[in-house]
Amino acid sequence: RSLPVDPNKEIRPRQVSGACFSKVKPIPVKNPVLVAYSGSAMELLDLSQEELDRADMAEYFSGNKLLPGSDPAAHCYCGHQFGYFSGQLGDGATMYLGEVVNKKKERWEIQFKGAGLTPYSRTADGRKVLRSSIREFLCSEAIHHLGIPTTRAGTCVTSDSKVIRDIFYDGRPIEERCTIILRIAPTFIRFGSFEIFKPVDPETGRAGPSVGNKDLLVQLLDYTAKTFYPEIWSEYEADKQKVYIEMYKEIIRRTARLVVEWQAVGWCHGVLNTDNMSILGLTIDYGPYGFIDRYDPDYICNGSDDGGRYTYRKQPEICKWNCEKLAEAIQDVVPVSETKPFLPLFDEEYSKHYKDKMRKKLGLIKEVPEDGELVESLFKTMEDTGSDFTNTFRCLSNLPLPNSPDYDIKMKEVLDYLVSQSCTVDELKKANASTMDPRQLQMMMMVIQTNPALIPALGRRFEAFEKELKKMSRLEELQDWKQEFKSKEDRDLWEKWLEKYSQRLLLETDSQTNLQMANKQREQIMNNNNPRFILRNYIAQNAINAAEKGDYSEVRRVLKLLERPYDGDLDITPTTIATDKTESTAATSRADSCQIDQSYDSKPPSWSLDLRVT
Ligand code: AMP
Ligand code: MG
Ligand code: MG
Repeated sequence: RSLPVDPNKEIRPRQVSGACFSKVKPIPVKNPVLVAYSGSAMELLDLSQEELDRADMAEYFSGNKLLPGSDPAAHCYCGHQFGYFSGQLGDGATMYLGEVVNKKKERWEIQFKGAGLTPYSRTADGRKVLRSSIREFLCSEAIHHLGIPTTRAGTCVTSDSKVIRDIFYDGRPIEERCTIILRIAPTFIRFGSFEIFKPVDPETGRAGPSVGNKDLLVQLLDYTAKTFYPEIWSEYEADKQKVYIEMYKEIIRRTARLVVEWQAVGWCHGVLNTDNMSILGLTIDYGPYGFIDRYDPDYICNGSDDGGRYTYRKQPEICKWNCEKLAEAIQDVVPVSETKPFLPLFDEEYSKHYKDKMRKKLGLIKEVPEDGELVESLFKTMEDTGSDFTNTFRCLSNLPLPNSPDYDIKMKEVLDYLVSQSCTVDELKKANASTMDPRQLQMMMMVIQTNPALIPALGRRFEAFEKELKKMSRLEELQDWKQEFKSKEDRDLWEKWLEKYSQRLLLETDSQTNLQMANKQREQIMNNNNPRFILRNYIAQNAINAAEKGDYSEVRRVLKLLERPYDGDLDITPTTIATDKTESTAATSRADSCQIDQSYDSKPPSWSLDLRVT
């Protein structure tokens, strides 16, 4: 195979059977420099400030120098990608370095991402570039500080070594800097780690490279249970089957709770393949993820997800499906008849946790059966008005309980804010514009018109096409709208929902209620569950643009903000409502936006609607 020249001559792509790891070594880069580090993540490793300040820090965290005691290896795993079993994938761009046991006796696995070729790199180069690394670095930390289980990112080191990921329109290659991040987690074992044992897949005819190796599967199951589910291990140790089943149930529950956490902050993973599902219910693998700005349940953050498999709305069902694939992977040791019947646990845990979380987000302390409907109608209103996910929730804590002295004033402020922050007609039009390449759309249209018999063969691509057509007809409808009309309609919609919400809030009080105290408590709960700062795509993009010019200060500033996502007040007074002054094309405004002057909690500028990440 034509592979890039490899200084570690022994590394070549291969099918690895009968092993979970292959030994590798990081491949050195030229002139490594530190872009940023996360103090709170590095603290997990007990590194002192002096060590962090060492001149050769970037040497160690690029892989140029090996950290003492590390024994690098690449992990062999498989995966279902976009619904189909791909066979062996593995750590193609990451490598295990070792484990650190810190003062608190916590054990942390450390890993490089982007340190070069491994036997699992297939036809790629094992490198990561500055932009993807900054995105993963910032978002890992953002998700952690939001209180959501995740792998962490300790350092981000870039270099003068270059790789090519893309070409300019005129065919010239675009060189990008090789960049390495240090990832930290209790373990990076994923559903896909167990899929190396998957029996032949009827759909693709593929099997895992270690299929039939029961001893190894038992070893991996035992290791996972003993190390990461010690309560289950010690309770059922005498009955291994029971250990595995209880562990499987717990994985389902953790996964369900994790998805609730994502839904609650409007975060989309983007690539929920089984190889990106942590066995501990952690968020893992930050690629084309996205926080939703303007609420749209069908939001697709991954530019190559044509079929919309991984939309916001579909995250729960997809994660449940992934749990089912995990059951199939381990069936040589635990028959599916013993695992699959527990799949409904996913829905139970999901709905319980979702209700709890949404009540907190709306500041509802009592439980009323109609709360589910209240939440649904809120999302519907957000969708119909094109409201900003984060700011909608955050602004609701400004509303005191009915009968409070300033209730009417605050109600008006909140209503005005909600109406003014919803999308303009232009923004909506733009956001609804086709995500498909226009040439692709045209070709599809031609193919289908001339030969409808081809439709079944087009499968997922036809679905995507149909969806685009639907969007285009909505676009025409929108074109007839007048801005004033939309605002009036938005106001009506928000008035209706706020009225419903007020009625519900009345149930939180009775004649005994100390309104002042209750308001304070309510505000606190809400503000601890509705972030003010999230890593919007445009914020990450601004930090990347500056970093590409050699200025890392914005990455560091954004990291600081993301460390305290729930702090401070969202200003909802009319003068501060952000209007988008950037009228220039996306390309030029992206360049201009390096002079960073936006406030980080305002809704995104319109150029960010064009940002598509793959
Ligand atoms: P992902 O979509 O990021 O989960 O990656 C899917 C598979 O591609 C995994 O096996 C990765 O290790 C591999 N991969 C991703 N990027 C690279 C890269 N730059 N070089 C080698 N392998 C990669
Ligand atoms: Mg991955
Ligand atoms: Mg990835």
